[in-house]
Parts: sequence; structure tokens; C-alpha cells
Amino acid sequence: MATLKEKLVHILFPNRCAVCDRIIAPGAFVCGDCQPRLLSYARIKGARCEVCGFAARDCVCGKWRLYERSVFPVFFEDDMRKSVLRFKYGGRLDKAEKFAFLVYRALIERGMLGGVDCVSFIPMAEKQRKKRGYNQAEELAKALSALTELPVEKLLYKCQDTPAQHDQSAVKRQGNLLGVYEPYPEKADFIDGKTVLLVDDVITTGATANEAAKTLLIFGADAVFVAAAAGRRRLPDLKRQKA
Ligand SMILES: [Zn+2]
Ligand SMILES: [Zn+2]
Repeated sequence: MATLKEKLVHILFPNRCAVCDRIIAPGAFVCGDCQPRLLSYARIKGARCEVCGFAARDCVCGKWRLYERSVFPVFFEDDMRKSVLRFKYGGRLDKAEKFAFLVYRALIERGMLGGVDCVSFIPMAEKQRKKRGYNQAEELAKALSALTELPVEKLLYKCQDTPAQHDQSAVKRQGNLLGVYEPYPEKADFIDGKTVLLVDDVITTGATANEAAKTLLIFGADAVFVAAAAGRRRLPDLKRQKA
């Protein structure tokens, strides 16, 4: 039985479905209608892609992918698309905890937590982050850290925006391979030999995660796993459609 205080909290701050935002019972994460939208990797039959976990014909991995595995619990479409956008642009930070729970379930289902050393996230340009007041990927990473008990490490920054932090010696050592993301100088050595769970709000083409993974691997990461609150379904293959 809910106490009076709990009832009052529920009236003042109603619990909402992670996907469609409808008011749901306290303690629940998604409503009954959205439950079937949660991807069940365990139920996928036949030949599957080990990276994204989908059946081979539904594989969402780019050919150039550098990360070892990726996972998301819901497709980035319809209500979930709106929900992620509210989280990203609308200040709905209450979503971090719910999304993290869904991601956590998917990570367990895919057996992706064993051997992970830390959780990190895709950084935003500093100017942009200041304007928004938060980085949604960081918020999701923090919530995921609370569930997994893995530490959150702020490893990367978006380099064009913070030239002062540019670690010339570290970058020179690696040649000109680095692109958009660079490690914080004090984290460059830490990355070596680590398996990093890299968090983003959404995986669309995978190019962003790939860029960040590239930097981590250049700096010696053992492996990079990628997790997001939502991800894009495999786009229709034009060649296949024509055939
Ligand atoms: Zn719902
Ligand atoms: Zn795949």
C-alpha cells in the first residue's frame, strides 16, 4: 500500500512512461501499450550479428564500425523519438533514470557488462553544453553508472571547441588520425587497456559513436561497447528493394 506521502508525490510528480510519457503507476518504467516496443534480443532467432545483436538481415552496423558491440532498447521512432527529443532538448532529465533502466536491461540481455571497466559518454561541444545546461548523454551515463555500479569517466571532449585543452604531445604521438574527439590529457593514459561502455542518447548512423570509439582505440582502449536509449532501425536496402 502506498503511504499518503507517496500518493501525494505521485499526484504532484506523476510517474510517466519512458516511451509515450503517459502517466503510469509509481515504480513502473513503461506502460502496457509500450511494453511490446521494448526490443527483446533473446527472442531473435537464427543467424545474428554479434555486434548489434539483430538478425543478420536486420543488422544496423555500418561497414566502417570500430566499436565491438552496440545496444539500444527501443527503436528511435514514433513516441520514443519524441521522448528522446524531450530528453535532449526539452530539459526532461527525469527521463535519464528510466532510459538507463531500459538500457541496463538490454545490456544484461546481451551479456555486455562483463569486463567493462567504466562508463563514458559522447561529449557535446562545450559552448552547446553551456547553452543547454546539460549533456543528455552524460546524464544517461550517470544514471547507468548508478545501476551498473561502474564508474563514469569523462574521457573525451569535442576538440574544435576547446583548443586550450589540446594535448599536443599526445596527439602528435598518434599522428593525424584523430578527428572530432580527443581525450582529456589527464585521461590519455587511463584509456590504455580499458573496455569502455560509451553512452549516447541515440544511435542513428553510428558515425558519432564510431568517431569517439576511434579515439579511444587509438589511445589503447581494449574494446568499446556502445549503448543508447534508442536507435535507428535498418534502413530499407535500395538494392534489395529493386531486386
Ligand atoms: Zn507508454
Ligand atoms: Zn549488426
